[in-house]
Amino acid sequence: MTSPLRRPLIAGNWKMHKTLAEAVELVRALQAGLGALADREVAVFPPFTALTVTAVALKESPIRLGAQDVSPEPQGAFTGEVSAAMLADAGCRYVLCGHSERRRLYGDTDALVGRKVKAVLAAGLVPVACVGETLEQREGQETYRVLERQLDPILGGLAPAQASQLVIAYEPVWAIGTGRTARPDQAQDAHLFIRKHVAKRLGAPAAEAVRLLYGGSVKPDNADALMAEPDLDGALVGGESLKAEGFLRIVKFQSLAKKA
Ligand code: PEP
Repeated sequence: MTSPLRRPLIAGNWKMHKTLAEAVELVRALQAGLGALADREVAVFPPFTALTVTAVALKESPIRLGAQDVSPEPQGAFTGEVSAAMLADAGCRYVLCGHSERRRLYGDTDALVGRKVKAVLAAGLVPVACVGETLEQREGQETYRVLERQLDPILGGLAPAQASQLVIAYEPVWAIGTGRTARPDQAQDAHLFIRKHVAKRLGAPAAEAVRLLYGGSVKPDNADALMAEPDLDGALVGGESLKAEGFLRIVKFQSLAKKA
């Protein structure tokens, strides 16, 4: 049975989309259609420029704010970077670390992602640390090895009690933005592996507390089946989070009774 510690989280990664006016329009539409949210959490991750205006629009709202990246450094001469403390000051609760687009296009290494996770925790925020294999790695039976290699710098140096302040997003690279979703059993298999790996590194209670999101072409018509899997504690949604209607349908996933 799913731990009561693990309140499902549906997170929308807007990537490099939305002007200030568009950001406000989208969160207003989300708020209007959200309804009661007692058993789940919702977060949006606008671009840096739209964080403050979105935070203001979300005042009094249960929708949480997240950022898409962070510097591992606390402050200093790092042109173009944004620190975790600045993100906290802007009203963020969550921060993506090591999204596959950052790893692939901007050179985020496993070690750097681990440092970003520590910086986010030090600022009192919740990292959403992304891991996942490419198609080539999956076809070469390397998925578990890749996940282990990505997870170890994220988990290294954490106290077991910090697991409840950590979210891990399993995002197979072959499923991101491709319309090709992992089957629910494939996602569950990877999530179970990740949870067991957290248990190995931080102990069973930590593994029970850590929230594991699935990301990769989550859509209104596949969210229910994915969320029925016992080790899926939410979703990280890209493309479908840019429109209120589709994102709200995912937020309102109906698989509350988890498979045993
Ligand atoms: C993502 O960017 O994290 C993502 C999962 O994108 P999409 O939902 O578009 O596949």
